[in-house]
Amino acid sequence: MVRRTASLAICITFCTLVVGGSAFDLRSSYQREYEHETFKLEGIAYLVSEWIKGHFLAFDYVLRDIATEVSPDELRLPHADDPRAQARLSWLQAKQSTIQYAESISLLDADCHPTHQVPPHSTVTADPHEYCQALKRNPALESIVTPSPQPDATHYTVVQARKIVDASGNFRGVVAIGISSKLFANLLTKITFSTQSVVTITDNHLVLLARMPARESDVGRVVGSHKSQAFVTSDKISAIFHNTSPLDHVTRLTGAQKVQGLPFLVYVGEPDRQWLANWYRQIVQYSVISLLLVGAALMAFRHHLKLIKHNSELKKFAITDELSNTYNRRYFQERAALEIQRARLNKTHLMLMLMDIDNFKRINDEFGHSVGDRAIIAFTRACRNYLRDADLLGRLGGDEFVALMPGIEPNRADEIAERVRAAIASAPLHTDDDQLIPLTTSIGAVIIAPGDHAIEQIIIKADELLYSAKREGRNQVCLGTFPSA
Ligand code: GH3
Ligand code: MG
Repeated sequence: MVRRTASLAICITFCTLVVGGSAFDLRSSYQREYEHETFKLEGIAYLVSEWIKGHFLAFDYVLRDIATEVSPDELRLPHADDPRAQARLSWLQAKQSTIQYAESISLLDADCHPTHQVPPHSTVTADPHEYCQALKRNPALESIVTPSPQPDATHYTVVQARKIVDASGNFRGVVAIGISSKLFANLLTKITFSTQSVVTITDNHLVLLARMPARESDVGRVVGSHKSQAFVTSDKISAIFHNTSPLDHVTRLTGAQKVQGLPFLVYVGEPDRQWLANWYRQIVQYSVISLLLVGAALMAFRHHLKLIKHNSELKKFAITDELSNTYNRRYFQERAALEIQRARLNKTHLMLMLMDIDNFKRINDEFGHSVGDRAIIAFTRACRNYLRDADLLGRLGGDEFVALMPGIEPNRADEIAERVRAAIASAPLHTDDDQLIPLTTSIGAVIIAPGDHAIEQIIIKADELLYSAKREGRNQVCLGTFPSA
């Protein structure tokens, strides 16, 4: 039982270590993959944001150039026959053609009314309120970038505007460039990294300006989760999200970056199935290995249990008499020797009873050998009913049995032996055809005083007493002491 519990504990510990170790390792490798991926995504998002910044800086140089070149007096509606005004329009036209993605250039007067516009009637300045009024109201603001959807909603334009001031620094008007959101889309086509990655650029209202892979139909749509909305309003410059895209419903790890000084945000997302591919493979490998190891441990444990059971059966077989299921002579003598030593140390008495079934041969002869066997079984059962757990019962051979009872009070020994005899005599054997076969036994009982005695000598003494009991008519107890008084 102890060995079985120990094996079970070892098996459970092993399985726990295998499963726990795998789980711990998987957790660490997830963490490693996560850190590696966030570093990569943040890096790309930062690069894209710097790229955007660079472009708008370049546009601003052109705006500065125009703002310096244009005199505030020119900011009034040009007449068709005014050659200076016409020259200015051509000049603006030439400027526009030098800036890729510039859809229009507009000049506005101090009341934010458009004065010059190339190409004519472009829709960029349809609502100049936002940027022009903002520049007018705020003396500290030199330039501004404002994303604004086109009224036809087919594409999106970003307006970059700069103040025009007079010699005293007073606000006299605005120069604005309308930049197509195709700038962003084209910028993204130049980035090539993982095929499954998604790069998105939005304005600060989370309106989609560009996406790679391209999804033209989504440009102008408001995208972004609660997390990205919270990010926009937060003080953070960059963030990492793990969420499911509202556009294609794919779960991604996303690095988000605000373009500093500009109303744009860059998102670089990698699907879980891509960045966790190695980790998923590792889960499968670990699961298979863990299952194999746990399976092997369980099989070893099962095998070990069988061995323990087999060993205990072997041991029982080696010490037990098969028919009566009592100890055999050798084991009885071994155990009895230990009990005698214990009694010697505890200074207690023992009693040994040698019991031989009376006229057993007759039972065999009259009813057959198998009934004789059953008589032996019935005899041992009757003995056991009377014996205590601490008493030893053994079969010395044939119909001769021996019992050793530790902790006996010498003056009660006769009474106890007599009770055993009576218990056997009062339990006759029932045959199959309902006959009662009386079963009696003669007993040679020896009270053993504490001492270093040889069990063989005690049995010889008990045998002499048993012989006396037989001679005096059987079914009786003959009591003696050892050593003899
Ligand atoms: P007594 O009262 O003097 O003891 O007479 P008895 O007939 O019992 O004589 P004894 O004890 O010498 O006889 C033992 C017999 O038990 C001899 C043998 O045939 C029989 N015997 C021994 N072992 C077994 C056994 O395992 N099964 C059966 N059925 N009989 C056995
Ligand atoms: Mg006999």
